[in-house]
Amino acid sequence: MVDRQDVLGLPLAKPLDEADIQGFAAALRGELISPEDDRYGAARVVFNAMVDRRPAFIVRCAGVADVMRGVEFARSHDLPLSIRGGGHSVAGKAVCEGGLMLDLSPMKGLRVDPTRRVAEAQAGLTLGEFDHETQAFGLATTLGVVSVTGIAGLTLGGGLGWLNGLHGLACDNLISADVVTAEGRLLRATEEENEDLFWGIRGGGGNFGVVTSFAYRLHPVGKVLAGGLSYPLSEAHEVLSFYHEFARGCPDELSTTASLGVSPEGEGVISVSVCYCGPLDEGERVLGPLREFGSPLADNIESMAYTTLQSAPDAGFPPGRRHYWKSSYLKELSEEAIEVMAEYVSEMPSPATGVGLQQMHGAASRVDPTATAFPHRDEHYDFLILSQWGEPAESERNVEWTRSLFGAMEPFFEGGVYVNNLGDEGEDRVREAYGANYERLLALKGKYDPTNLFRLNQNIKPPSETASSPVS
Ligand SMILES: Cc1cc2nc3c(=O)[nH]c(=O)nc-3n(C[C@H](O)[C@H](O)[C@H](O)COP(=O)(O)OP(=O)(O)OC[C@H]3O[C@@H](n4cnc5c(N)ncnc54)[C@H](O)[C@@H]3O)c2cc1C
Repeated sequence: MVDRQDVLGLPLAKPLDEADIQGFAAALRGELISPEDDRYGAARVVFNAMVDRRPAFIVRCAGVADVMRGVEFARSHDLPLSIRGGGHSVAGKAVCEGGLMLDLSPMKGLRVDPTRRVAEAQAGLTLGEFDHETQAFGLATTLGVVSVTGIAGLTLGGGLGWLNGLHGLACDNLISADVVTAEGRLLRATEEENEDLFWGIRGGGGNFGVVTSFAYRLHPVGKVLAGGLSYPLSEAHEVLSFYHEFARGCPDELSTTASLGVSPEGEGVISVSVCYCGPLDEGERVLGPLREFGSPLADNIESMAYTTLQSAPDAGFPPGRRHYWKSSYLKELSEEAIEVMAEYVSEMPSPATGVGLQQMHGAASRVDPTATAFPHRDEHYDFLILSQWGEPAESERNVEWTRSLFGAMEPFFEGGVYVNNLGDEGEDRVREAYGANYERLLALKGKYDPTNLFRLNQNIKPPSETASSPVS
């Protein structure tokens, strides 16, 4: 008798019994952790303490074979499947309820080839671990700005960091990736091989498979001229207007951020942070007008190791906090927009919260919006309200404040949202995140994951699912 088959031609799901589970555990090199295990509590934790889900199984993958077996096991038993890289996403979709969580964080292999300037990195690495290895050779690539973030989720969504002006996004620096597909097969994706998949994983998130390793192009990065200037919140108009003009004119070597928040002393404060990654004397000249502007409360811009810069904000994001983020893109910083931000920040319910503008420009913005799946190629700011607090009882107040500020800022947005900043915000927002590339991503989903096995992400529903759902 022939088994019934799904659209991939694979046998249809069968119910799970104890022998299946034992067989699965025995077939793994890594650990299979179930709820009775002492390690379960820690293994299911992700960065955002608002997320509290209990998978039926957690596989701590030791290598590619474990990933392939995990994918096969989830598919053949119809289990929800979540993929954890660094576990740092605020949406928290790395952990699932009642299904199989494939935890890639034990996979931390990394090989730097200093001659070819390439790093081959497994998907469980954090940014800090990656930078540590590549900086030993005076090399780096664009990643994010907090060292405990995972390279996997960050790169698959785009990856915006201090080197974006000179070297583009993290995904722009990908040379290849190894991807385990919904069929449990390992594919190599490059510009020449499975090039449609390679296009899709550079901005399309985890929709098409599990990436087990990435090869990145590296660049010489020595000491950088970096740090920040701070000003009282009462000077928001002068400071942010000047900042905007300065940022607009800055060279590729310089990338900037601005944020509004509360100082450790409890005062409203604006911070402008910078990283100049070219010759330091030229950096001093370029930064001159910014450092000479107004009367900053502090100026701690200095030459520093790139790894020092990359871990500088870590203390501001300790584990165990609750997070609720809302985000979009801003092209202009009008008087009115500055007014709204300053007013809301002066009434922030949590002193740990910040409102940030992360500059995207130069090489990152010159890539054609359809060249990779990441569509938001422009000279603009990734505008982000990063609300964080400790106590569950404070959740409602913080969420409400965040939504209210986001609503007040909406008239100023350019539209779109960075997929890695999205929470659970509904299908329209997911479409906004994939922008002009959505239709092409939809077709790709139909090819590589027609049954939507990889659905616990900012999900692109395959045509088979969208066809049957009512249009709202
Ligand atoms: C404090 C903080 C600072 C941040 N700063 C930046 C920044 O400067 N720049 C920036 O670009 N982003 C930044 N981010 C956002 C960051 O890019 C996302 O949170 C990203 O998802 C983190 O990746 P991760 O692997 O740690 O997350 P995870 O939570 O492990 O994964 C997120 C999702 O990615 C998918 N995924 C993860 N690994 C794989 C894999 N191997 N294969 C297939 N799919 C996978 C899954 O769908 C998963 O749900 C920041 C986030 C935080 C919390």
